[in-house]
Amino acid sequence: MKITKIQCHVLLDPHYDIAATSSAQDDLVVEVFTDEGIVGIGETDLNPWIARECIEAPGTHTMDQGLGSVFIGEDPLDIERLWLKAYQATAMTGRRGALVNALGAIDMALWDIAGKAANKPVWQLLGEKSRDHLGAYASLQPEVSSFDAYLSSMVKWAHGAKEMGFRAAKLETTFSGPYANMGIREDDEKMTEVIKAVRQAVGPDFTIMVDVQYAFDSVARAIKTINTWQEFDLFFVETPLWVDDLDGMAELVANTPIRIASGEWLSTHYEFKDLIRYGNVGVVQPDIGRVGGLSEARKVCNLAKEHNKLVVPHLWKTGISVAAAAHLATVTPHMPFFEFLPPALCESALRKHLVVDEITMTDGKVTIPQKPGLGVEINRDALAEFVGAARKLRP
Ligand SMILES: [Mg+2]
Repeated sequence: MKITKIQCHVLLDPHYDIAATSSAQDDLVVEVFTDEGIVGIGETDLNPWIARECIEAPGTHTMDQGLGSVFIGEDPLDIERLWLKAYQATAMTGRRGALVNALGAIDMALWDIAGKAANKPVWQLLGEKSRDHLGAYASLQPEVSSFDAYLSSMVKWAHGAKEMGFRAAKLETTFSGPYANMGIREDDEKMTEVIKAVRQAVGPDFTIMVDVQYAFDSVARAIKTINTWQEFDLFFVETPLWVDDLDGMAELVANTPIRIASGEWLSTHYEFKDLIRYGNVGVVQPDIGRVGGLSEARKVCNLAKEHNKLVVPHLWKTGISVAAAAHLATVTPHMPFFEFLPPALCESALRKHLVVDEITMTDGKVTIPQKPGLGVEINRDALAEFVGAARKLRP
């Protein structure tokens, strides 16, 4: 089997809001075509126009080839060799960041092809099944622009998640720093108010994670606030400090009993090696597309296991990434949860409609994927609509 073409789809939710902190509003989806008619799909989470250029730009010399061109004519089942070939052949522009993020979408599509070719769900190619059901948590980030509306929406959504069967939810409580959503700016005590209200609403028998999205500008401020949250029984606090502040992260970890999580923006397992070695966080959070695909995410899982850390992937895209995470979780016993942006609890039309046959949850449990490949297909009408919306912004 040979790869014949890689097609990139830049997608945009027609109702996107530039003030919203939600990358679920756009997407870069790739389709990898083969001469045997099998097509693999993958997606990744970064500016989709830039991701497309990473794949479609021509190369002019040996160490800076076009990412997409590296794959044409190659055997799609030779994934490990192809990943290394692409990583090395694009090293001058790549190695980290956007180009590795884009490589992740292609890698995801190659795993989809491999599963379809073997007539097996991808997890069967990734490793040993380690569980019967998957633990998903709902990510909740109301898209409203005042604190009072945020607080009441969050409580309502947490209730809704529990009623849908979720046993866990993550609250995005970010009212300061670069990631503050929809322009809401409040003191750190307001985060506490949200967490307290949700804990009261859902009761003790429900797992709560909190994502502050880089809200704290100093270790002291982070320690002071986070340590007042011990009474709320949080599973982890995500990205309290800026992603590059590994020394600060280690200092925070040494001064709080609550697990600290980080890693959503990192690419390659090399960056996770640094995060574990220098940041010493308890939970690492590779985004499967961004880190470089399932191949690289699996390496991160192995690293985490060696260092006795948990893995809880970041995921803010569509059912394609949900499927990829579900397959990885199936073979990763130290992945207690994966992030699940439920279509019903998300504002993004793209998240709601892009994919059919997606992984679903019943009675709080996500079942192990059984269909060949990733097991999801693109809704072509939705795809055309989102491509059209993206072309309006950039013809
Ligand atoms: Mg986050």
